[in-house]
This record gives sequence, structure tokens and C-alpha cells, in this order.
Amino acid sequence: MSVQNVIHRAVDEAEASRYTEMWRSLLPYGLDSDTGGYRRFAWNTADLACRDWFRSEAAARGLEVETDRNGNLWAWWGPKGPGAIVTGSHLDSVPDGGAFDGPLGVVSSFAAVDVLRARGFSPAKPFAVACFSDEEGARFGIACAGSRLMTGALDADKARGLRDLDGVPMAAAMEQAGQDPETLGRDDERLEGIAAYVELHVEQGKALAFTESPVAVASAIWPHSRWRLDFTGEANHAGTTRLEDRHDPMLTYANTVLAARKKAKLGGAVATFGRLVVEPNGTNAIPSRVRAWLDVRAPGEEILAAVTEEIIKAADERAGRDGTVLSTERESHTTIVEFDHVLRNRLAGSLRQTFGAVPVLPTGAGHDAGILAAAVPTAMLYVRNPTGVSHAPGEHADDRDCLAGVTALADVLQELCQ
Ligand SMILES: [Zn+2]
Repeated sequence: MSVQNVIHRAVDEAEASRYTEMWRSLLPYGLDSDTGGYRRFAWNTADLACRDWFRSEAAARGLEVETDRNGNLWAWWGPKGPGAIVTGSHLDSVPDGGAFDGPLGVVSSFAAVDVLRARGFSPAKPFAVACFSDEEGARFGIACAGSRLMTGALDADKARGLRDLDGVPMAAAMEQAGQDPETLGRDDERLEGIAAYVELHVEQGKALAFTESPVAVASAIWPHSRWRLDFTGEANHAGTTRLEDRHDPMLTYANTVLAARKKAKLGGAVATFGRLVVEPNGTNAIPSRVRAWLDVRAPGEEILAAVTEEIIKAADERAGRDGTVLSTERESHTTIVEFDHVLRNRLAGSLRQTFGAVPVLPTGAGHDAGILAAAVPTAMLYVRNPTGVSHAPGEHADDRDCLAGVTALADVLQELCQ
């Protein structure tokens, strides 16, 4: 019998059908029928529906739900208390996001509770399923806002004042949803009560697609910088201005995109321009300014710094040739996160019996587990994503792999909660 069949059988039919039913009830919330993607943004109608879904799944299992000072949800199996083992993820999405990023972790957490109960196991330690608020930052621009507020990495006043595209401040959005924005801020009491946080997440690349393993343990989250590049030139007529008379910032920008690709490839990093504001943005006008945002991620801080420097240098040189001016500003930097080595090894050890030696993988994607790592021991499990597509409707994980993920999470939690 193959390893896959053993894993599949480890979750019995009743638990598997309960798992399927959870997905069936969650999937409609925030689904855009035109794009096939999800639009679950912090405190919007779809997000609130997902929060209600979380409460009802918890209630169906007799778990007591509380909302913390920063809007994160906690479903406790048994009494709260110090030394808690916590698992979970998030339910919000990027614009037109996929179904699995976040929800797979929350659904699998509830399913793991079902599996543990079917095994006759009850935790000897306080245990909670958590759902972190506003992980994607799609509405107010700061990712992992719920966990950043909780650890103090995001200032409460700053958070309250963040505005969405309609000008609605986060404080007002929370208030309207019944969440008191005055209580935001670092939550020492809660952090001190957590012994470990384990987050299961769909893989956001395709490293596992080339292996026999449906699951992996995370090693680290790559460091990550976001820069704003302003290319300033001279607006002029698209029909009458000779090519040699132009100071076209779009040309400088376009060459910078190509340079970023080349420098990232040579340096073993990834670099992306995904956002652009063009002025005056007319079809028949040479732009006066192109404002672009560069996202760079790399396996280490030194590579990240070196690749970024080379991209900016290439942009600057090109600006000199085009008669345009470049100015740059680093808008954010997230340092490398090494997940707790003891916890990571414990996870790998508890998976060995069912899965053999599982891959240990780094990722370029940020997570609440990465933010919480500054305050509590954290670890992550990844479930294979056959196409590697994420943050898009094509994001996918096979049922069989998802159930293997549930088994893996249950095994890990059983080990940690003994
Ligand atoms: Zn996620």
C-alpha cells in the first residue's frame, strides 16, 4: 500500500465528510462570480460572514470563542490558561484571492480537533484554534495587521488611522463591525499564555509538486523589502515630440523592470513591479511621472540588500541616459524569520511515522506565524499546491493532500498537547 493511501485512511470517512461540509459552507462567502476569486477584506461583509462561520464551527464542536483586543478570534478546547498550544490561520483574502490561502489552515484546525477526538485524545494543555484578523492587509495596506497589533509590531494609533480606498479609517470599520478600536495594541498577557503556535498553510510555490510528500515543515520566511521608485520626466505630445527630444520616464521604468528581472535571477532572489501610477495617464501623452512599487525578497539579508542595490543602480544609470530623474524610498522592510528550531524539529519528528522524512522548506510569503515568531515559538506546515499558483483563483490543493495535511496537523498537535 502506498504512503498516500495510509495517510488517506488515517482520516476516516465521517471526519472526511465533516471536513467537506466545512468547505461547502465556507466557500460561498466573498466569492466574486465574475472573477472566480475571493474578496474577503478586513471587516467587510464577507469577512464578517467568515467570522460568523468560525463561531458556528467552534460552537458545533463545543469550543468557546472569544475575540481578543485586536479582533483576532480564539476558539478554546477546554479551559484557557498559560502554556497554550495554538493552531489556526486567517480567513481574509487578497483581491480575487484563492480559496485556500488562510482558510485551509482554519478548516484543517477544526478538522484536526475532530480527528483527535475520534482518536480518543483530549489535550492535557490549553488548546485553541485562532483566526487572525486582516492577514492580507488588502483593505488598509498593512499585512498581518491582527498579529502585528498583538505583538506591538504595528502601532495602535497608526492602525486606527489607516484608511481604505474609500477613505474609511480602520477604527471606523472596526467600530461598525462591533469591535472596539480603543483596545488595540500589544497583548502581553495573551502572548505570555502561548507555548507554541503552529500554522498550516497551502504552499505558495511548487517545491512539493516535485516531491512524493504532500506536506512540508517551514524553515524560514525570506526577508522582504518594498520600495517606491519615482521616475520623473517631461510630459509632451505623443505625436509631435521627436524620440530624441523626449524625457520619457516610462522608458526608464520599463528598462528598470527588465533590470530587476535580470538582477534577481543572477542573485537568486525575486523582484516584482506589480503596482504603477502614471501621470498624467493619457494615451496620447508622454508621461511626466511614473511611480512604481518594487517588491524584493531573497533567501538572506545580504542577498536582498545587494540585489536591491543593483536594481536601483541600473535604474539610476538608465535615468541618466533618458534624461529623467529617479528618486527612491524604502517603504518597508521585514527581516528574515527563522522558525523555532526546537519546535520545527519536533514537528518533523512527529510526522516521520506517517510521512517519513518530510521536506523542510523556506518561503518568500509572509504569515502571522512569522510575525508571532518574534514573541512565541512558532512553526508552519505546508500542504502541496500542484500548480504553485497563489493569491489568484487558480490556487489549489488536492483533497487527498488536504486530508494528509489534517492528519499531519493532528499528529503534531497530539505530540505538542501531551
Ligand atoms: Zn495566508
